[in-house]
Amino acid sequence: MKTRVGLGFDVHRLVAGRPCILGGVPFEHARGPEGHSDGDAVLHALADAILGAAGLDDLGSLFSDRDPRWKGADSAVLLQECVRLARAKGWRVVNADVVVATEGPRIAPMRAAMRSRMAQLLGVDGDAVNVKGKTLEGLGALAHGEGVAVQAICLLASD
Ligand code: MG
Repeated sequence: MKTRVGLGFDVHRLVAGRPCILGGVPFEHARGPEGHSDGDAVLHALADAILGAAGLDDLGSLFSDRDPRWKGADSAVLLQECVRLARAKGWRVVNADVVVATEGPRIAPMRAAMRSRMAQLLGVDGDAVNVKGKTLEGLGALAHGEGVAVQAICLLASD
């Protein structure tokens, strides 16, 4: 069995008047991620980790933010398309791990729901996807609630 690892990273500004969706799960929060799509930085980082491991183009190349087809797109649909593209090359997801750096919304209360939703989207068992929230210790713009930064790592195996 061959394996490949991929790394993803994404940052979105959090702004008033946008729904807050992270990891495919709606949060009760006054600000949401700005973006051409729904702005789900967690799913974007995860998708880029999968694409990276599979040797495919990155998310921005596949789903350009200048393409009107992806305006307001559900990032869950984009992620599932990335999983499909990886599968078409003979790769399946083994596990994924995500770090969400933000001063708000709080990740911990939604962690189980995020894990479950992402596992469903990736087609893996619930314990094969993990996520942790990290605060910024008062440092920089992210620490003032202005955005969210996400790192993701994903392991793929050949069928
Ligand atoms: Mg993004």
